[in-house]
Amino acid sequence: MTHPSASVTPVELQQAIRNVADFPQPGVQFKDITPLLANPRLLAGAIDLMTAGFKPGDVDAVVGIDARGFIFASAAAVKLQAGFVPVRKKGKLPYQTHEQTYDLEYGSNTIAIHIDAVKPGSRVLLLDDLLATGGTAEAAALLLERIGARILQVGFLIELTFLHGRNRLGKFPVKAQVVY
Ligand code: AMP
Repeated sequence: MTHPSASVTPVELQQAIRNVADFPQPGVQFKDITPLLANPRLLAGAIDLMTAGFKPGDVDAVVGIDARGFIFASAAAVKLQAGFVPVRKKGKLPYQTHEQTYDLEYGSNTIAIHIDAVKPGSRVLLLDDLLATGGTAEAAALLLERIGARILQVGFLIELTFLHGRNRLGKFPVKAQVVY
């Protein structure tokens, strides 16, 4: 039986992403993925595209970045028969953590991972919804390296190429489905 999401294209995904001007602050065009997530075929298609090239057994864990990364990473983990690992905002994880701080346009942000989130040498796929400046994903990759993970790919649903986030992820394979 053909999977119902088999024919989903990146163009269809892009058509289901809503642009919201001046959110959460003036000058930012927010990429609202909720219409895409609410469509069963497009949701499944997004997961298929974000896991393309991997099959069960290839990946030990899929790591998602707080909070929208969790949506894609947990579904991808189930599909690839891998574990799910959260990278969370500081102060949310209950056990011992490593933390990484990175700069934002105004101020900074800190994310964290459990020290035992994956075994050293584990093969991981790192996922988030959107690559902008790359600061968030770079910080997550540094956390994963600190616990000995082997990052096979850093994947996004959306990439804002004009912010050159890929430059900060230079040493990892980076993949995005919908590019602006
Ligand atoms: P950055 O660290 O600059 O690459 O920002 C990436 C993070 O911020 C991701 O977790 C996104 O969810 C969020 N983000 C940044 N810019 C946008 C945008 N224009 N629309 C939606 N989310 C965004």
